[in-house]
Amino acid sequence: MKQDLNPRELLATLVSFPTVSRDTNLPLVEWVEGYLQSHGIGSRRLMSPCGTKAHLYAQVGPEIDGGVILSGHTDVVPVDGQAWSTDPWTLTERDGKLYGRGACDMKGFDALALYAMTRAATRDLKRPLQLAFSYDEEVGCAAVIDLVEAMRGELPKAREVLVGEPTMMKVVSGHKGGLGYQVRVRGFEVHSSLLPYGVSAIMQAAKLIDWANQKNAENAVRTPSDLAAPFVPPFTTLHVGMIEGGTAHNITAKDCSFFIEFRFVPGESPDDWAKAFEAKAAELTVEMQKIQPDTGIDLVRGFALPALAPEIDGAAEALARRLTGDNGSHVVSYGTEGSQFQTRGYSTVICGPGDIAQAHQPDEFLSLEQLAAGEAFVEKLLDQLCA
Ligand SMILES: [Zn+2]
Repeated sequence: MKQDLNPRELLATLVSFPTVSRDTNLPLVEWVEGYLQSHGIGSRRLMSPCGTKAHLYAQVGPEIDGGVILSGHTDVVPVDGQAWSTDPWTLTERDGKLYGRGACDMKGFDALALYAMTRAATRDLKRPLQLAFSYDEEVGCAAVIDLVEAMRGELPKAREVLVGEPTMMKVVSGHKGGLGYQVRVRGFEVHSSLLPYGVSAIMQAAKLIDWANQKNAENAVRTPSDLAAPFVPPFTTLHVGMIEGGTAHNITAKDCSFFIEFRFVPGESPDDWAKAFEAKAAELTVEMQKIQPDTGIDLVRGFALPALAPEIDGAAEALARRLTGDNGSHVVSYGTEGSQFQTRGYSTVICGPGDIAQAHQPDEFLSLEQLAAGEAFVEKLLDQLCA
């Protein structure tokens, strides 16, 4: 049965599916498929390797290049241990705000994108509108690569990608990239009085961490590139936020594990940073194995997300500026799926309702005002697509 839901009703429905990244999003995907189908819009699913999640993509309008992609993720962060004053899975209005997990990040935009698709189906589009709904954005923005590849292979090539992460409807043209490693240093235990005959995993880990300190110092004094200059700070940073190791003050540590993250500016690549880090680890491993061959450093790559680089005369930026009237230049410090589109040849910006400050918080909300701004944005977009 065909239902015409407004953005708020769509948001309430999307929020009712508890699509935490670790859990399935298939009930939500199935509902979206049915809803689009009731409006005569076919969509395609792309299953995750584990079979419990899916991306969804769809198109409305003529089968030609030059369309617009509305990109959103369907997953949300957990609510465990958070003090919510309402049920996070029931959209609840209070004082002009709509509360619910994902209301801001980013089911508010997802609702607007669905609304745009059904409205587009009733209009005489001159170029197509495409929808991209992903899973696993909140756990590294990597799963979306398959979705981008599928859309690029199977749909007419879109000209602009609008990723609706919360920006208060400002046009955000850049963000830093990220790279993470779980590092395990394997040492060799001896009594600490015999230090030169053992390998302290902790002291070797310290060398690797000090390499990160040195890189931070070098990066900080370099003149920022044009691409890096808008960021705070305007250079790549390396950070170790967790470490554990050792068993006693007088035993050279057998184990030391830590997590290192790189937040790099546009113009620098995750692969280059990965190469540099892995080379340093290999150099230390050689030193360690001279003392004891069974020692070493194991690296497991956690995530790798390219930076989103501000484009020169970018089509997506120009479109988003026309739709929002925002002429400021903005970059953000969080990562998005936008860079996965951009590095695969799509002009991309970030623009969506809500404030990132509310994302991932207990009592996450989207204001009615921002939802209305998003709806106005959709109406203007549809007019552009018909012009
Ligand atoms: Zn998000």
